[in-house]
Amino acid sequence: MADDEAPTHMNPYEMALVQLRHVARRMKLDPNVHEVLKTPMRSLEVYLPVRMDNGTIRVFTGFRVQHSMARGPAKGGVRFHQNVTEDEVKALAMWMTWKCAIVGIPYGGAKGGVIVDPRELTHTELERLARRYFSEIGPIIGPQVDIPAPDVNTNAQTMAWFMDTYSMNVGHAVPSSVTGKPIDIGGSEGREKATSRGITYCIREAAKVTGLDLDGATVAIQGFGNVGGNCAPLLYEMGCTIVAVSDVNGAIHDPDGFDVHKLTKHVRSTGTVMGFPGAKEIQNADLLELDVDVLVPAALEGVIHKDNAPNLRCKILAEGANGPTTPQADKILRDKGVYLIPDVLCNAGGVTVSYFEWVQGLNSFFWTEDEVNERLDRIMTKAFHQVHDIWEREKDKDEDGLTTRQAAYMLAVKRVADAIKKRGIFP
Ligand code: GLU
Repeated sequence: MADDEAPTHMNPYEMALVQLRHVARRMKLDPNVHEVLKTPMRSLEVYLPVRMDNGTIRVFTGFRVQHSMARGPAKGGVRFHQNVTEDEVKALAMWMTWKCAIVGIPYGGAKGGVIVDPRELTHTELERLARRYFSEIGPIIGPQVDIPAPDVNTNAQTMAWFMDTYSMNVGHAVPSSVTGKPIDIGGSEGREKATSRGITYCIREAAKVTGLDLDGATVAIQGFGNVGGNCAPLLYEMGCTIVAVSDVNGAIHDPDGFDVHKLTKHVRSTGTVMGFPGAKEIQNADLLELDVDVLVPAALEGVIHKDNAPNLRCKILAEGANGPTTPQADKILRDKGVYLIPDVLCNAGGVTVSYFEWVQGLNSFFWTEDEVNERLDRIMTKAFHQVHDIWEREKDKDEDGLTTRQAAYMLAVKRVADAIKKRGIFP
């Protein structure tokens, strides 16, 4: 499919392939390495019979895709969502490969997904689904093989069930089989907020290179789950004014800024941002087009596309979600002068602290939250400037220009390609 024929909402795997193709051309990537990187190394589809509380059985479909293990064990989260497809999981697995390479942690990329709307299941049904899924993907995972973690609609509780299932199947506790676990069974301090903290470090550095004063800078956040919901208070504490937030139920706006601590309490007690006293309800789509300094899409893929990208008014676009911007929108935003912090860099704080958790688990020696945050800051800040420097150096070398995403990919693809070349293709 030619890029200019791409529909507004691209298939995420097509999107991932277009991104890879652009950068392969640009960096004159060895076509043999490109060939290897285009496909995952392994994709497993599983069917999961689960007993519902009323005694009936429903069969769910799940996936675990491992894109690359060239730089180390595969790593990536598992999402529970009604719109999961194999192509989406393949794209997300490839993005994990790039993400781990950009922050320089010794992993390849993987992702898992189950087609389910978790809101329709009770707690006990969800537990049986999680355990059955983990048992079915058991043959291809393990602490030195592939280490799952939370993603959309999964959390520390899901990871506890995963870890227990794996441990029961092998006959002893294996905490390093998953990350994002509760602290009392080998989780890491700081893991829950790590993705959001990483995003705030990137925004801080982006503000420095673009000359934006974050004190009083206006911010809109799409999504109020683990990523968006933790970003809001962290950015608020940094002096930003949070003027709009949204979740699956809708969006709210207050040009004077929310009291984020009250908003967080409201969400905790009602389960949604909607109905927050004093806030105006707006359309979810309008949130993206608000005149703000910083926009943080922290929900799902493909929300910024060729039709709405021309209307975006933010100065910095910090991609909390994976794949929120299509390749066509990337070009439009670059031409408008928006400073985009690409997902593979911006949200890499989660997997970075997952790495810390894995290391702590393997050593059975645990760090304080300050140690975790400090190491995370160092890694994110270094990765941000490595990407930014490539962008500064390369952007005028080609008449096509360069997006910051392409700069990030140049760093990632080179690191993965070097690993493949040095290891060689088996046999
Ligand atoms: N699901 C998160 C991501 O997309 C975290 C993955 C991990 O910690 O392995 O980066």
